[in-house]
Amino acid sequence: MKIKEIICALEQFAPLPLQDDFDNAGLQVGLTEVEITGALLCLDVTEAVIDEALTLNLNLIISHHPLIFKGYKSITGKDYVERCILKAIKHDIAIYSAHTNLDNAFGGVNFKIAEKIGLKDVQILAPKEESLLKLITYTPLGYADKVREALFFVGCGSIGNYNSCSYSSKGEGTFRAKEGATPFCGHIGEMHSEDEIKIETVLPFYKKQEAIQALIEAHPYEEPVYDFYLLQNMWKQAGAGIIGSLGIAEPELEFLKRIKDTFKTTCLKHNKPVKHLIQRVALCGGAGASLLPLAIRNKADAFITGEMKYHDYFGHEAEILIAETGHYESEQYTTEIFRTLLKETFPDFTLQISKINTNPIKYL
Ligand SMILES: [Zn+2]
Repeated sequence: MKIKEIICALEQFAPLPLQDDFDNAGLQVGLTEVEITGALLCLDVTEAVIDEALTLNLNLIISHHPLIFKGYKSITGKDYVERCILKAIKHDIAIYSAHTNLDNAFGGVNFKIAEKIGLKDVQILAPKEESLLKLITYTPLGYADKVREALFFVGCGSIGNYNSCSYSSKGEGTFRAKEGATPFCGHIGEMHSEDEIKIETVLPFYKKQEAIQALIEAHPYEEPVYDFYLLQNMWKQAGAGIIGSLGIAEPELEFLKRIKDTFKTTCLKHNKPVKHLIQRVALCGGAGASLLPLAIRNKADAFITGEMKYHDYFGHEAEILIAETGHYESEQYTTEIFRTLLKETFPDFTLQISKINTNPIKYL
């Protein structure tokens, strides 16, 4: 099996176009046509992690945080990132990162954190906006099923727990074929009317090219008509943060102690408890302070994130319980997502979760 097959499975789950603008998720170093010996799963890539992969004879490292964030004009080993790049290339180790695309994916980083906390009825806290397209096309009678199926096959018509969603209506199309055309129906130079089916469906923005290709291949017309419209709807299947509920409301202090244990943090920062009982919980792994106002608007009793600034705490004293687990601590279970996904897809594949704690922050 080649490295590219593993990457393909990862990107099916967490497509790269879901990543935030600042990000650099995807293949960091290496060639993907190479036969894979196995993968090491980690949160951060460090020299020690590359050494671990070498010792275990694994030639793919899959991390959550990208190794490379900026452009390089030289790679001479002057910092740890450059040394990692050099070491990985020297030893034919590929490095792949699924970062904010995995944060924003359904079932991604925040779903894993919610699972660890025991949240139920989870929903994405900040669904992606301006990410859905409406596709409208028109087929002659008898061809609508074929075109619909082709569109569904590439991922059109997926809404929540439903797939194959579309709407069809009957109408009449007109055209006049000019010299040089090879019309499916009608004659050159003559005005033609054809009974047609109008098909409407929905798709994520990044599937547009696939949908066009599928449509053209399935449609009998020489020049099929299709229209894309950008929707204002929020896409509830992708986005940042999670909100959900505990099965049984929990006293604040017990809840905080449980969070501390669950994320194995030696120092849980939090604000003054005021809510008495915690039931509705919003969360975001890593640095999630920007989602705090949304958590409050959605009536969360508590907001859990990896890290926040001092001033982010002000002004919410009586509104919500805030707790910070530490950035590394909040995302430490991300490797379990990689493991579950790849074990399901490739049961015989060698996988190892890194034993190295890459957290650069220590507590006294
Ligand atoms: Zn992070």
